[in-house]
Amino acid sequence: MIGFLEERHIDLRYRAQAWIDASDLENDHDPLRIVGRLARHELLRACVPAAYGGLRERVELRDLCVLRGVLAYRSSLADTMLAMQGLGSYPVTLAGSEAQKQALLPRVANGQTICAFAITEPEAGSDVSAVATRAVRDGDGYLIDGVKCFISNAGVADSYVVFARTSDESHRGLSAFLVDGKANGLTTSPIELIAPHPIGTVTFERVRVPASARLGEEGAGFSLAMSTLDFFRSSVGAAALGMAARALDEATARVKARRQFGRPLAEFQATQMALAEMAVDVAASRLLVFSAAHVIDAAEGPGGVDAAMAKLYATEAAQRVIDRAVQLFGGQGVVRGCPVERLYREVRALRIYEGTSEIQKLVIAKSLLR
Ligand SMILES: Cc1cc2nc3c(=O)[nH]c(=O)nc-3n(C[C@H](O)[C@H](O)[C@H](O)COP(=O)(O)OP(=O)(O)OC[C@H]3O[C@@H](n4cnc5c(N)ncnc54)[C@H](O)[C@@H]3O)c2cc1C
Repeated sequence: MIGFLEERHIDLRYRAQAWIDASDLENDHDPLRIVGRLARHELLRACVPAAYGGLRERVELRDLCVLRGVLAYRSSLADTMLAMQGLGSYPVTLAGSEAQKQALLPRVANGQTICAFAITEPEAGSDVSAVATRAVRDGDGYLIDGVKCFISNAGVADSYVVFARTSDESHRGLSAFLVDGKANGLTTSPIELIAPHPIGTVTFERVRVPASARLGEEGAGFSLAMSTLDFFRSSVGAAALGMAARALDEATARVKARRQFGRPLAEFQATQMALAEMAVDVAASRLLVFSAAHVIDAAEGPGGVDAAMAKLYATEAAQRVIDRAVQLFGGQGVVRGCPVERLYREVRALRIYEGTSEIQKLVIAKSLLR
């Protein structure tokens, strides 16, 4: 990745990799304990700016991509917990008041506050402008009513960034609020997915927040949500890349060890073709992800299309690579607990969250047709 990464990103990668390789992170299934471990090893510092306990003067996407790649190689749950500390605090980094930043960001970096980002609703998925949750002025604050679904960290989060409607204007009617996880009227119920991931529905019934809980101006919520998602999108590709790289390594080891027809599977050309195509998918994903992250960090352009391409390609490619790894494992590949079986379940959601593959294609096509 020479050219896209600088020495500081490579150092971070080696430091994180050394700890993760020596740890049993892969077998840790407790989200809160994982956040504590990520904090102790100072990895969460990549999620906030240096003035608030972070790693760099401003949050750098290449750090997040490097970390998501190495974490997802071992544990998609650890990757999710790091990603949510970033996604659920970045709107505060972008639009928070000094008081909001001081109160939240140092606690995000040291793992004392678990974050969530709540935009999706039962009738507002890909179409964010359909958000119906309302925040109505009430004296010196707001009352929030509505239902959010598929919210990562629902039930475990201490702090939710909630996007709610403050007027009937479509996109311009949305505003963002910081809501305490223990607020009166906020309840959660879990959703069980095919892979480990704390997630659920969050219901707001007359949840009262002070005006000081609003992030930025009234009506600025949609653009804040999009700026946050645009920033993080390529990091989803990085997580996919980590999973694909793991599947390739597992498959390579397996075909060298497994013998059929009197020789290792690795000696059959059909196996070699499969491995070669998997390796190209992994290499192409790596280039797209880190080139998008470089463009966005360097502010060389808006980066939205680069991020969409990186997410689209890397997540679709990871699905292909992992599916092939399962095939190369034969029956063992679908036995619960086999690493490629786990990856097969864990990678699936990446083509859906933070904008489905179809939505990424629309973003790319729109830029071509403009
Ligand atoms: C593991 C996981 C974690 C998540 N975490 C969060 C979170 O923390 N916070 C949060 O707010 N949300 C979260 N989500 C929700 C996620 O962002 C949505 O699931 C996603 O945006 C898609 O919305 P939807 O599920 O309503 O699907 P829909 O929007 O109903 O889409 C269904 C299908 O229709 C396609 N489609 C929709 N519109 C078009 C179109 N115009 N053209 C072509 N095809 C189209 C989609 O691509 C998809 O294939 C998470 C989801 C998952 C699975």
